[in-house]
Amino acid sequence: MASSLTTPTITLEACPIVQQPISIANQDLNNVSLDSDYSDAEEDLSMTTKQAERRTALRRPLFFRRSKLSKPSSIEGEEEDEDDRVLSGKSSPKIDFLAGTCKAAEQAEEFVKKVWAGAWRVVHHHSLPDWLKDNDFLHTGHRPPTNSFIQCFKSIFRIHTETGNIWTHLLGMIAFIGVAGYFMTRPSIEVQWQEKAVFSAFFVGAILCLGFSWLFHTVYCHSERVGRLFNKLDYCGIALLTMGSFVPWLYYSFYCDLGPKIAYLVLIFVLGTSCIVVSLWDKFAQPQYRAVRAGVFIALGLSGVIPALHYVIIEGFYNAINFAALGWLVLMAFLYIAGAVIYAVRIPERLFPGKFDIWFQSHQIFHVFVLAAAFVHFHGISKIATYRLTLGDCLATELQ
Ligand SMILES: [Zn+2]
Repeated sequence: MASSLTTPTITLEACPIVQQPISIANQDLNNVSLDSDYSDAEEDLSMTTKQAERRTALRRPLFFRRSKLSKPSSIEGEEEDEDDRVLSGKSSPKIDFLAGTCKAAEQAEEFVKKVWAGAWRVVHHHSLPDWLKDNDFLHTGHRPPTNSFIQCFKSIFRIHTETGNIWTHLLGMIAFIGVAGYFMTRPSIEVQWQEKAVFSAFFVGAILCLGFSWLFHTVYCHSERVGRLFNKLDYCGIALLTMGSFVPWLYYSFYCDLGPKIAYLVLIFVLGTSCIVVSLWDKFAQPQYRAVRAGVFIALGLSGVIPALHYVIIEGFYNAINFAALGWLVLMAFLYIAGAVIYAVRIPERLFPGKFDIWFQSHQIFHVFVLAAAFVHFHGISKIATYRLTLGDCLATELQ
């Protein structure tokens, strides 16, 4: 396979000014019909690009110069021709043209090299470097390291282990941008600026979370450094979504209770920030910390149980269900926790290794659960806000 191939070398031997060997280094050259004989591929390469024309153009002056070299030196007084200028090292428009042509040829070689290098093929889990070996229950269909953002972004449109992870949150992010755009552009008679401000915390959290997520899955295979950086952003996104989700819920649940509202907002801010700090810790992203990662974020989400219980105690269970959308919040919590557990235990691929390499692997299910939970939460906080706003301001509520 790829490892048995000799690294091909293309030389600009026709270029009289620059003779640089161009090495095409890629571990996945087997995608480019190199299996049998490299020389065929080289021939194909040169004949299918504009290089063929350029080579012909380049060979002409070289041949011309050689033929002149064999002739006796020019007679004194005779006009110095092109090749004498070449030999004497003087510049001329023709030489400049030649240099420019060589540069263009070089750029063409470089372009072919890049296209060639970009033609990666999915690989087996065994062939991955350690930093890409995240889930050993996914056997085939992995992207190799690309070292190119262009190749990473092009891979969005190819089928591999990350395709489902990318698209679930890319489409989710687009959907949330649409919902947020619609909500924020409602006339003030429909939605007032206070509501827009409170809901925007949730929208920002959701869009950032989904955005960081699909970006991470897209560039994960770039290199270890880039993958690690975006992995941290991915975790920060989850913390931001959780924090953003709490803001409208606490705001409307404790609409007239300033003390508890501030206390719980501070609590979630401190916990969320701690999650972000822990996420930035390098070791946190390693496979052996999978359970710790799931645990930290479940704890952040479960911290919502305290204000929820508080609400039930002061308002009663009936009010909590009917006016504080507690049912929707419980469903949301269930979806988040179920998603996190599936992510941690890696089911179904653990039960059927190699059978869910491309579709329906645990991480995709986790992504869908996160998306569903975010929409359920939006529905829940919309209901709480509608109920709360129909009651009038706090003074009117107290008078009732
Ligand atoms: Zn993910």
